[in-house]
Amino acid sequence: MKFDPALKIQELRQFGEFGDVNPSITDSATYTFLHADDMQETFLGHTEGCFLYSRHWNPTNKYLADALAAMEDTRSAWITASGMAAITCALLQLCNTGDHIVTSVTTYGGTYAFLKNYLQKFKIDVSFVNITDLKSVEAAIRPNTKVIYTESVTNPLLQVSDIPALAEIAKRHSIKLMVDNTFTPMILSPARLGADIVVYSMTKFINGKNDCVAGAICSSHQFIDELSNVNTGTAMLLGPVLDPMRSASIHKNLHTLHIRMKQHSFNANFLAEKFQSIGLNIRYPGLPSHPQHELHKKLMNPGFGYGGMIAIDLSTAEKANAVMQKMQMADVGYLAVSLGYFKTLFSCSGKSTSSEVPEDVQKEMGLSEGLVRFSVGLDNDIENTFEKIKTICAEEGLI
Ligand SMILES: *Cc1c(COP(=O)(O)O)cnc(C)c1O
Repeated sequence: MKFDPALKIQELRQFGEFGDVNPSITDSATYTFLHADDMQETFLGHTEGCFLYSRHWNPTNKYLADALAAMEDTRSAWITASGMAAITCALLQLCNTGDHIVTSVTTYGGTYAFLKNYLQKFKIDVSFVNITDLKSVEAAIRPNTKVIYTESVTNPLLQVSDIPALAEIAKRHSIKLMVDNTFTPMILSPARLGADIVVYSMTKFINGKNDCVAGAICSSHQFIDELSNVNTGTAMLLGPVLDPMRSASIHKNLHTLHIRMKQHSFNANFLAEKFQSIGLNIRYPGLPSHPQHELHKKLMNPGFGYGGMIAIDLSTAEKANAVMQKMQMADVGYLAVSLGYFKTLFSCSGKSTSSEVPEDVQKEMGLSEGLVRFSVGLDNDIENTFEKIKTICAEEGLI
């Protein structure tokens, strides 16, 4: 069935206190109660529309959480101060000492480091698998496995996760499927495809302005209540709540997300096709040559394209560095980590955002040292951008 996440956000009628067209910003850490009983009930999480303390919940974050839940078609959501806070809180809520996680080996570098190095503290074991090989995913599951973790489109190799098939495996073993959808908001709706928990770094496409870090967890009422429980909730007790001022500004940017995603996708698709035609080794889920192109096509919501991320293998780190420096000088974009910005950003993944992954593992997962990840910007003249990059590649003897 056709699902339109942009329409779901537009259909929400969220007004401020005085009919303001933008929701009011709550500039308070605590909230008064007329009746002492109500305070007690709110502590227990029983009172709808009552707020206790802003680390627990605050109205401005609630507006944004409601909009994200509408976009994802989940019952609830919680807003975190970073993408890593969303990922770590959700995983720590699900796993106890002695538990086990099965994860895609290609993930965001910070996620990889958390899974590989940090969770050891709690004796939580992690198996790293090729997420496109469903047999190896299932084979990695143990009696103490609690979560299958993946990214809908993985960083930086842009593999597409078969979310319905992974959800089926998770269900059969009574474990949770958690999906990081940072690369493909609106394009893919993991919860509709069977994921139990969807996490975001809103730092990227959702906010799209590169002016702050932020994150979100979208899931069932039950899971969000557990996370924010005053006695046992990881989000409540570790406390990575987003400031309401930021929340309000991200919320306004969310309303232009659909237009931006379309333009990011259009520009990335244009560059991908052109790069392929001049013989560069390129990965983009929108190209029929991409191994999971058909799968992506089957899973995606119509109208938003295949996303703004492309990866080009420029063979060696030296070539990659030379090309990136020249691209920056020619104003193609910025040599910087991060993504989802209105300017094009590029970085050499093996030496930057995936440097947490040891070199032998990088090789094993097919991450070449010359792989340059592009987050394609909102350029109005993408043909001109392509001509600049083509000239640089020719100078470097790559074409
Ligand atoms: C950036 C990113 C994160 C981490 O988010 P922060 O907001 O930087 O904490 C997690 N997952 C993916 C896919 C990312 O790109």
